[in-house]
Amino acid sequence: METLKFKNGDKMPAIGLGTWKSGKGEVGEAVKIALNNGYRHVDCASTYGNEAEIGEAFSAVFSEGKVKREDVWVTSKLWNDSHEKEHVLPALKQTLKDLQLDYLDLYLIHWPVAFKHGVSFPSNDDDYLSLEEVPIIETWNVMVEAKKQGLVRHIGVSNFSSKKLNDLMSKTSEIPEMNQVELHPFLPQPELLQFCKENDIHCTAYSPLGSGDRSAQMKADDEPSLMEEPAIKEIAEKHDASPAQVLIKWAVARGTAVIPKSTTKEHIISNLESEKLPLDEEDLKKIANIEREYRYVTGEFFVTPGNPYNNIYDL
Ligand code: NAP
Repeated sequence: METLKFKNGDKMPAIGLGTWKSGKGEVGEAVKIALNNGYRHVDCASTYGNEAEIGEAFSAVFSEGKVKREDVWVTSKLWNDSHEKEHVLPALKQTLKDLQLDYLDLYLIHWPVAFKHGVSFPSNDDDYLSLEEVPIIETWNVMVEAKKQGLVRHIGVSNFSSKKLNDLMSKTSEIPEMNQVELHPFLPQPELLQFCKENDIHCTAYSPLGSGDRSAQMKADDEPSLMEEPAIKEIAEKHDASPAQVLIKWAVARGTAVIPKSTTKEHIISNLESEKLPLDEEDLKKIANIEREYRYVTGEFFVTPGNPYNNIYDL
């Protein structure tokens, strides 16, 4: 399996299982199917509201003995309401408890956005804390402490622009090891990838299939479909593969990790098999020539009139 290598020699399997929107009563089964069919990387977050069920699945699979905890890469993320320094370790410990783990392989600051403690989703301007009130470095210093304590092996961020990364890196000697961002042929973000490469920061591609199961309120009416994109379909046909497999292999070919979400058994299995797809130069060129640009996860859910986080990706 393709891996991303970290400075201490740790290897993160390039393809992992995403778990956002994987509902209660189905996410545990999805994780079991994944681990029993070769996945060794699961992407979690406390805000997905399903870590306890994932923890049950981990515990069941590990106790069977075929898959060992140390062979699986588990990522989770600090939610926006726990950026203040006194809330970071308790949030991490809750995630560890829910996932029934002693340590995480990777812990990420989910967004460069802070809410007041206890606000799971903001409904008005008062629900936010500004980054002047809770600077990212304050949160980051506790992430570093969590690593020192052995609660997490690696630390990083998510949804950070190069400007935000630069700013953080100017204030710490512990460089983020990962930036998890939206990446797919409609949003390839080559400048951000190049910036991360130059600074030894790995990238993980989220929403690689276009996040089609987001709620209606998060979707635009005329949203383009990655899996219906003619170039992607043609390449899939050429290799007798599915469009999803083309999109996943494209991400791996660019040297990123990729975390397609699925709770459908045949999708879970075939998504991992995409690794075998022999995408060639012609295919990659065809994908590079796709002109459509589109961001699915706009961050607009953080916008209330007058809050400090408008234009989240430009900050
Ligand atoms: P996605 O993986 O792009 O798409 C998920 C959708 O694709 C689901 O409807 C799924 O349906 C479908 N699907 C999966 N495999 C398929 C296949 N082989 N053929 C056809 N349809 C297929 O969306 P996402 O959940 O937004 O992104 C993936 C993961 O990235 C998340 O789950 C989460 O772990 C992470 N993420 C992180 C952030 C962040 O802020 N850091 C933001 C967004 C996402 P089925 O379930 O029926 O297969």
